[in-house]
Amino acid sequence: MPAGNAAEVSGARLARALIEWHARCGRHDLPWQRDRTAYRVWVSEIMLQQTQVGTVIPYYERFMQRFPDVGALADAPLDEVLHLWSGLGYYARARNLHRAAVQIRDEHDGRFPETFAAVAALPGIGRSTAGAILALARGERFAILDGNVRRVLSRYFGVEGEPAQRHTAEQLWALSEACTPAEQVEVYTQAVMDLGATLCTRRNPACERCPLTQTCLARRTGRQHELPAPKRRPERPLRRVYMLAAQRADGAVLLERRPERGIWGGLWCLPEFDSAAAAETYLARLLGAAAALRPLAAIEHAFTHFDLVITPLLAHCSAYDGAPDPAQHAWYHVSAPGALGLPAPILRFLQRLASAAAQTQLFD
Ligand code: SF4
Repeated sequence: MPAGNAAEVSGARLARALIEWHARCGRHDLPWQRDRTAYRVWVSEIMLQQTQVGTVIPYYERFMQRFPDVGALADAPLDEVLHLWSGLGYYARARNLHRAAVQIRDEHDGRFPETFAAVAALPGIGRSTAGAILALARGERFAILDGNVRRVLSRYFGVEGEPAQRHTAEQLWALSEACTPAEQVEVYTQAVMDLGATLCTRRNPACERCPLTQTCLARRTGRQHELPAPKRRPERPLRRVYMLAAQRADGAVLLERRPERGIWGGLWCLPEFDSAAAAETYLARLLGAAAALRPLAAIEHAFTHFDLVITPLLAHCSAYDGAPDPAQHAWYHVSAPGALGLPAPILRFLQRLASAAAQTQLFD
């Protein structure tokens, strides 16, 4: 039998087994499975990139309550969107979601686009996400290849090579196409994603409970832990920065809006500097204050490609007489935070700073 036909036969068997399994054991009560519109599925797919279902659910519910449709999202200020996203991380996702909603309002009469090409052209939506939205919300036959599906297919078909490499990715896309059924595509799509999330997990896959256990190549050859081939990671660079925590007598701390591009883009954060001297100059220029800077215990945060170590510099500046630019600066008080999006590590730092007991721990 030609290789292509073999993949189709094997793919059809996989799809059948997964659809049956999903009817018995799949997740059917997730919030985005109710009232399945393209908008609701789209938001869930974006939130679920890099984030587990359990973490996403409360964020998703709050987001839908505030932005029940694409128009509400498009008309909202970006700050409010980032505020509701605070803590989920990977904030480019929220910025792209908002940009795409504006695009749908302005260029598609407020209706989610119909064609695959138009969906895939929206900011933050790649081939796999576009396929997932159209398959799950509209039952259209499109293949997907997110991280979970890559793992399932690599193991089931014994695909060697790093999934991120072009040749391997093309092979996996072809297999995903061969597996995607013409009927019940929405059930199959949900099932293959669920299998990767719940049984065919990265560490310790539960093969004994898997509906593919009889035919999975990795299982039959005992290679579940070798496939897919792990990504070769370059050494993680370490970046060190200083951040100014200018605090008024009432406890409010000065925040600055970060540029759109780069880490924590568009979020409100402590002003960042390469050196303590630069922070001092900024303090004097912006607030007309010449307070002593007090280094506090470092904040460490791991990004995907590097580690960040922040040395916060506390300055009590009750006597400041400058007026920061309201478009770029805000005085932030944890007890009256307002609708601003803050990076989670910075929010945690401010909460610790606000607590008198914790403050004593901060001074190393
Ligand atoms: S048998 Fe094991 S390795 Fe194969 S798909 Fe199922 S869980 Fe994954």
